[in-house]
Amino acid sequence: MSTILGIESSCDETAAALVTSDRTILAQRIASQDEAHRPYGGVVPEIAARAHAERLAPLIEATLADAGMSLDDVDAIAATAGPGLIGGVMVGLVTAKALAMATGKPLIAVNHLEGHALSPRLADAALEYPYMLLLVSGGHCQILLVEGVGKFRRLATTIDDALGEAFDKSAKLLGLGYPGGPAMERLAREGNPRGVPLPRPLVGSSEPHFSFAGLKSAVMRAKQSGLYTDADIAAAFQQAAIDCLIDRTRRALASVGPVNALVVAGGVAANKAIRASLEALATEHRLDFVAPPLALCTDNAAMIAWAGVERFALGQSDPLDVAARPRWPLDPEAGAVRGAGVKA
Ligand code: AMP
Ligand code: MG
Repeated sequence: MSTILGIESSCDETAAALVTSDRTILAQRIASQDEAHRPYGGVVPEIAARAHAERLAPLIEATLADAGMSLDDVDAIAATAGPGLIGGVMVGLVTAKALAMATGKPLIAVNHLEGHALSPRLADAALEYPYMLLLVSGGHCQILLVEGVGKFRRLATTIDDALGEAFDKSAKLLGLGYPGGPAMERLAREGNPRGVPLPRPLVGSSEPHFSFAGLKSAVMRAKQSGLYTDADIAAAFQQAAIDCLIDRTRRALASVGPVNALVVAGGVAANKAIRASLEALATEHRLDFVAPPLALCTDNAAMIAWAGVERFALGQSDPLDVAARPRWPLDPEAGAVRGAGVKA
């Protein structure tokens, strides 16, 4: 059995975790920076990097103490090496390098997106490759065929905004504050999802991708018109988002061979209405539906440690000069899309 220390610092969560190859999370700590960024209505990269630098080392110490362990008990050190806000990524990766150098333990440079993509296997021992993954977060909106560790086929991505970003920007237009996703979901429960006519960008389109910028603009126009309640706008926005997700995922499922499950991961997967709709789609296709527990959906270090467990089991590690990468697509073969360069 192996025990891996995982470190995450790619956005506004500073996190450390200890995870074993038998799927036990021995300890994990997450320090959120929501308070530091709230006055700006979004994550400020420079503030995030400084906060990671201040918090990470004591957080790792505390995580080891929680598990009653020292670095001697750890088999490898895994850290997010990208994609993400580069200042924060560098803080986490350099810390991991220092620990690896001091202890002589292997370093594993983890793609943050692979952390999200494999996290369902930490939660569910029965989940086998290949599976269809919908990765929906603040920075990403992709459909991936997950064939194994490091083996991904990107079937769809967003040509403009990520879905979490659309939730956050729409929430801001409604004056709901930051981060907006959870507030939008709460408000949506009080509204009528058919109460406001909103577009479903690219639904039914022959191209496989997502687009949410137009939906966000339509939310702005609906708000400015003064014709609708905020609750109806929130409910209609969420319904339009769900309709887009279902249409695009159905198309992706039809474009590949048999898969073992439909899996959702990333921060937006915390949304219960979205989960329920995807579960219904899975049932319709006679597929298992797997959604990791909410704490594993948002950014966390347990998923980074788990990706480390899977790579360590395959004998993989990285040299100490491995680079931090602001962009790092899971599927290097997938070409740029229209509106390109916006999202990895
Ligand atoms: P991540 O980028 O994976 O850390 O996820 C953060 C994103 O998930 C942010 O854009 C949040 O607004 C979004 N999010 C979190 N909870 C919810 C929710 N319940 N409904 C919709 N979006 C959410
Ligand atoms: Mg993330």
